[in-house]
Amino acid sequence: MYVEVSYNIFLWVADSPFSVKCYASLMSMFQPLHSGLNAYTVRFDPRLLDDIRTLYYLHIAPFLSLPENQPVLAGGKVHRRPIGKDYYLFSYNTLPLLWVSAHNEHVFALHRRFFDALGIQDAVKKRVDYEREIVMYAGFFIIGNRWPRPFWHTDFREQSQAYTLMTPLVELAPGHGQLLYEYEQTEHIYTYQVGEAIVFGDGVLHTTQPYAPHQTLRVMLSMTFGTDKWQYWPHLKHAVQAQSKYYVLPCGHVSGSCWCRFKAFPHEFKALLQR
Ligand SMILES: [Zn+2]
Repeated sequence: MYVEVSYNIFLWVADSPFSVKCYASLMSMFQPLHSGLNAYTVRFDPRLLDDIRTLYYLHIAPFLSLPENQPVLAGGKVHRRPIGKDYYLFSYNTLPLLWVSAHNEHVFALHRRFFDALGIQDAVKKRVDYEREIVMYAGFFIIGNRWPRPFWHTDFREQSQAYTLMTPLVELAPGHGQLLYEYEQTEHIYTYQVGEAIVFGDGVLHTTQPYAPHQTLRVMLSMTFGTDKWQYWPHLKHAVQAQSKYYVLPCGHVSGSCWCRFKAFPHEFKALLQR
């Protein structure tokens, strides 16, 4: 409800019908980062982040500020644990970076509300093979206070028909790393701004820009979304499952709550019976 209200107020205070029209169109537009690169930027009213930011400061920031939890931020080992009832923390290998994902229906709905308010579904539909609607699979934060060296990767396998969105929850501090990405065999830098998200799909090689240990946490809001066709799930499930225990399947149901997967892949059901 709040998101809708703040959006309307924002349009109301804009100073002319022309600027209203321009900003409204910008809000739902993908701006290509480069011609031919599967990456885009999207502008939005930063107040759309207010509810999610409140949750972050209520539940996650206090956890990460405890002295006994400082080693979690330093990397060196894998972490998997809940943060209260609302979020779940993941880390990988020795990387000093935390993925903290929405872990129940209520919190997921808040992240989903932000996604809906961006108004980018139509733009996404033009770029993925879908049947009825775009599905948001998972919502999470990516949190760290250092990044020692480039870790070049793509988020999705080819033909995943899915995208990642990243935007800073709060303004990055001077000294925080930005986003490095490759375009035409050359390294480029994208500078994060509050009120702008970057959206990228398969084929976009990227890494966090290395930065020295910092006293301020670098907090990004992120989500994955894309096709509702089961046929692509084998391509994209690794990316979705890797950082969330609570996630939504292409059918729109929460993982573990339906049998749709077995309708899509009957051989998996047979294999399950034969165990
Ligand atoms: Zn289902």
